[in-house]
Formats: sequence, C-alpha cells, structure tokens
Amino acid sequence: MGLVILFSIVFLPFDTNPPTTFLEIGLPLVENIGIIPNLGDPAIVSLAYALVVSFILLVAAGIVGVFPLGAGVLGLSGMAIVTAAVYLFFPPEIPAPVWGTGYYAMWGASVIALGASFLRKKPKQPAQPPAATQTAEPPPETYVCSRCRETNPAAAELCVKCGEPLTHAQNP
Ligand SMILES: [Zn+2]
Repeated sequence: MGLVILFSIVFLPFDTNPPTTFLEIGLPLVENIGIIPNLGDPAIVSLAYALVVSFILLVAAGIVGVFPLGAGVLGLSGMAIVTAAVYLFFPPEIPAPVWGTGYYAMWGASVIALGASFLRKKPKQPAQPPAATQTAEPPPETYVCSRCRETNPAAAELCVKCGEPLTHAQNP
C-alpha cells in the first residue's frame, strides 16, 4: 500500500482543476516553507502549512508502507488534514480543487493499509500451550520370576504364577 501511496503522490492527479499531482502541490510548499508566513492571508497560510504537513505525512506513509499500521495511520492523518484544510481554508476566490484519482487512491490505500493491519493482528491467537508435556509415567516396576519368567507386580513377594519367592534383585 505504501507503493500505491507513493505512486499516487507522484503520478496521479490529486486535483484535476487543473490536473496536478500531490507532488507538484506539496514539494514547492516544502521547498519554500520559509516564505509561507509571508503569504499574507491567514487562510492561505493555514492551507499551505496544512498541505505541507499532509504532504510529509503521506510521503512518510508511503515510505513505511511495509508496516500497514504505520502507513494506514499516517496516510489517513495526511488525507484528513488535507481534506479539512481545503474545506476550511480554501479561498473562495480561487476555484476549489476537484479531487482527482490520486486523492481517492491515497484515501483508499490508507484505509486498506489500516484494515490490513487489523486483519493481520486478529488471527494471532494466544499460542497454544505446548502439547501437554505428558511425561509418560515411569512404567510401574515389575519383577520377572527367575523360574517361570512371569512378570510380577512390584508389590508381589511371591510369583503370582508359580509361587517362587521373588528376590527383588532380579529386576531386569
Ligand atoms: Zn514364577
């Protein structure tokens, strides 16, 4: 999704009035950030700063795209800021931007990235306890009769089959 965001920033029209990529909007502002305060109209200054912030957030979202949560949060923040800024500060005397495919692609990629991060988390169930380490009980001690080879329980004093006294030393 990060690649989609970066691709959208660089290649897709963000504003179709006239067709402008977000890179073409954001980069000059970032490069000339020092003169933004001199633009005069507070609405334009706010808009410019908001665009700079969202531009940086979206580029960051694209770069951290391998981490869906980061890309999703950064991307959505950037898109929310740029959208709010345009509605709040766009000067009425300039024709409002007409969102292009880049705008929608970045929203979509951010939402998908965030969604993917939640989906990825869900299946992570608590690790099953390691198959009950059934330490097989030690086999009960038995004694083999020296005379008839009958296997006798440990408690037996005489062979259960032939009655031979079991000397417990005969344990095999
Ligand atoms: Zn016996």
